[in-house]
Formats: sequence, structure tokens, C-alpha cells
Amino acid sequence: MPGPEQQLSTDLAPGRGPEHADVIVVGAGPAGSTAAYHLARTGLDVLLLEKSAFPREKVCGDGLTPRAVKQLVDLGIDVSEEAGWLHNRGLRVVAGERRLEFDWPQLSAFPSFGLVRRRADFDELLARRAASAGARLVERANVAGPLVDERTGRITGVTARLGEDRQPVSYHAPLVVAADGNSTRLSLAMQRYRRTDRAMGVAYRTYFTTPRHDDRYLEAWLDLRDPRDPARRLLPGYAWVFGMGDGTANVGLGVLDTAAVAREVDWRDLLRRWCALLPPEYGFTPEGITEPVRGSALPMGLNRQPHYADGLLLIGDAGGTVSPATGEGIAYAMESGRYAAETIVQALARRTDRGRELALRAYPQALRAAYDGYFALGRLVADVLGRPRLLGTAGALGLGHPALLKVAFRLMVNLTEPNSRDALDRLLHVLGKMAPSSRS
Ligand SMILES: Cc1cc2nc3c(=O)[nH]c(=O)nc-3n(C[C@H](O)[C@H](O)[C@H](O)COP(=O)(O)OP(=O)(O)OC[C@H]3O[C@@H](n4cnc5c(N)ncnc54)[C@H](O)[C@@H]3O)c2cc1C
Repeated sequence: MPGPEQQLSTDLAPGRGPEHADVIVVGAGPAGSTAAYHLARTGLDVLLLEKSAFPREKVCGDGLTPRAVKQLVDLGIDVSEEAGWLHNRGLRVVAGERRLEFDWPQLSAFPSFGLVRRRADFDELLARRAASAGARLVERANVAGPLVDERTGRITGVTARLGEDRQPVSYHAPLVVAADGNSTRLSLAMQRYRRTDRAMGVAYRTYFTTPRHDDRYLEAWLDLRDPRDPARRLLPGYAWVFGMGDGTANVGLGVLDTAAVAREVDWRDLLRRWCALLPPEYGFTPEGITEPVRGSALPMGLNRQPHYADGLLLIGDAGGTVSPATGEGIAYAMESGRYAAETIVQALARRTDRGRELALRAYPQALRAAYDGYFALGRLVADVLGRPRLLGTAGALGLGHPALLKVAFRLMVNLTEPNSRDALDRLLHVLGKMAPSSRS
């Protein structure tokens, strides 16, 4: 039986055609484009296959925290306002009558500002950046499934349908990266199923014209309640208003769907009703809505595993990298793409199959080291959010103690300073590391 050595050697052989590459990345969202960029920068031959053609819409809140900004800077992208980005200073939390503003912290590892940008624009920018680094971006390449070596169970490439006329084509590579988002048909075809013990979320959004379009704070409203519920219990999530700087705001809500109540709610209707309740200065009238309400699932807490096996790596939403604490997904998609790329570069430089496989194991380890603590904390938050009574108590406690809220804010957004002398930073870092491991 031939070992992985032979398969790798065949695909890496010189003189191969354009359907062969060192690495195939399926999906050019933030995860896939980031991975493809970092791979291509090292000189590897990367195929980046995207089913749609840019610019294309992606349902999102369009909000970027300093974690995501750091990743953009690492891609060499100009994030200045002159280059079309709207900068924000932090997060405004609205709960009942209270409004609290938390500025993004000053840290060595991350910039102290966030951004907003429409995803149609944002994703195209990242994909073109990957292409300019040398990745071979193929748009309208709809990946249909994996090519699998039946003897070893290892992925050796993918089949796809190309262009308007859906021409069938096969692409070959010794390593394939699934970056095809939440539905990740590729992972499913390779038997990577979702862990049901991890939180899932749902989120819906629309856009309104509003005088508050250039707000310098991302705004999160915690008082999200099901209007049909006679007890008006809090729902396990929040609503947001993110000014886009172009006369509109992205307005949406994100909720954990673990709570039984959450499964019965009509989210589109709830978002419309919630918007109607906002003060008149927001100007959220039915005539001001500029796009239909759309939404999708948020795969959280590394809920699809293993993140590496049989030549396939899972990154971004495909690997469930959305934060269970906040629903933030772009920064973690990009970070996981970068971890995967760094691992692959090391693996492909090894001279033996055993060495390569050993190197590839570093990817799930890197995810665990980076996120186990924070995501476990998020799961704890999710647990509290899923129990309305506990949530009411926690909310009342927090709102009465702004210092507690500041700690909660820094923990939730995962922005801490590892080597700081600041007592809060040290505490946050220790808390983030205290969580149990999540095997991958
Ligand atoms: C309503 C809503 C609001 C959100 N708001 C925010 C927010 O404000 N900030 C934030 O950080 N996160 C937010 N998120 C989460 C964020 O959108 C995701 O976590 C992020 O897009 C994940 O990036 P990704 O690259 O893993 O996947 P995706 O962005 O989903 O990209 C996957 C790519 O793969 C392509 N693809 C899929 N199938 C195939 C195939 N068969 N062949 C080829 N290509 C394929 C798709 O076309 C797509 O381009 C929100 C999510 C929702 C639903």
C-alpha cells in the first residue's frame, strides 16, 4: 500500500499542469484569502477557488474589532480613512436607560481602533490581495466535492464546476484547506461533522438610512426581548447598530440558538419590531430600510473537528471559529487562516511524510493554545445567556458596577496584554488561560 510519501511526491512533481498546486484553498472569504495570501508569500503555488464572482454580498454586521485590524495590517492592507475605512473608537453598550462607552484598549499587540466596511468590498479587497501575493484566484469555481485516495482516505484534490456553463474540472494538491464558510460542504463530504456540545448562534441584519451613520462607536443593545413573551424575558443575545459612514447603518441582532425559546422566534420579524422601538433620532422608519433582512448561522467555539486530518485543514467558519462570547467571526477566521498557512509552510518543507504529518498536527494545537481559554469563557457566557434568570441577575450586578463591566468588556472582546504590569491585564490573561482543553 503506498504511503502518503508517494501521494505527496506525485503532486509536488515538476511539470504538472495548471490544475495542480501545492495547496488548494476552497472559499475566498476572510479565512481563505488570508490563508492564501500567507501561503503565496512564501512562494508556494496556491489555488484559491471561489464559487461566486467578486464583488459579492455576504450577510454580516460589517464590524471589525482591533483583532481584525491587526490581521489586515499583516496582509499589508492600507487601513487609513483615506483608503475608504470608517474608524471606530470602541463599543457603546446600551442597557435600559444606561449607555456606557468602552474605548478599545491601548495594547502592544493590537491597534486601538476598529473599522467598518461592507463585505462586498472587504472580501474582494482581501481576495485581490491574496492574488497580488501570487495565489491563483479562480472565481466562479464551485467546488462540488473532494477527490479522495480510497486506499488511504486522504484528500488529494477537489472537483469543481467552472464558470457560467459549469464545466467540470478536477484540481489536485497534497493539502486542501476548507474555507467554505458555515455550510462547509467540503468538510461534510470528508465526514467532519458539527459538535453538538458547542454553542451555535444565529444572526440577522439589514441596512437603514440614518443620521447616525457616522457614529464613532459600534453600538450594542443588550435589552433584546421576545415581544410575544408575556414575561418579556431577555433573549440570549444583543442587537447592534454599526454606522457605515455612507448615510446608512448596519442594524442586526445575534442570538444563541441553544436556548429553547430562541428556536421559536421569527428573527426577521423581531429585528423589524426592535428597530421600530428605537428613539426617533435613529430614523429607523420602514421607508428607510435599504436592504432585505437576511441572516445565517454562526458556528462557534471550534465546533467542527478535527481541524486537521487526512490532508484537510478547516479554517474560519468551516472550523467553527466564531467567538461564543460576542459572535465576532472575521478576526478569528483570518487568524485561523494564518495559523493554517504557517503550519502548511512548515509541513511542506519537511522531507518525510512522517515529518509532514507531525508538522500538520501543530495546526489544531495552535488553535487550542490560542482559543481554548477564551472560547471556554465564551461558553460560560453562553450558558449564562441561555438562562434568562441567571442573565437578569448577572446584568443587574454588572450594570451596578461599571468596573465589573469594564472587566467583562475586555474579556468578551478578547483584547488583553499578555506581559502587562497592569493588574487587570494580568487577571484577564490568567482567566483566559484557565479553561479546559477542547480536543481537536
Ligand atoms: C448577520 C451576521 C452578522 C455578522 N456580523 C459580524 C461582524 O460584524 N463582525 C464579525 O467579525 N463577524 C460577523 N459575523 C460572522 C462573520 O460573517 C463570519 O464569521 C465570517 O464571514 C467567516 O469568514 P469565512 O471566510 O470563514 O467564511 P465566509 O465569509 O462565509 O466565506 C466563505 C467563502 O467560501 C465560498 N464558498 C462556499 N462554498 C463554496 C464552494 N462549494 N466552492 C467554492 N467556494 C465556496 C463562499 O462563496 C464564500 O466566499 C456575522 C455573521 C452574520 C451571519
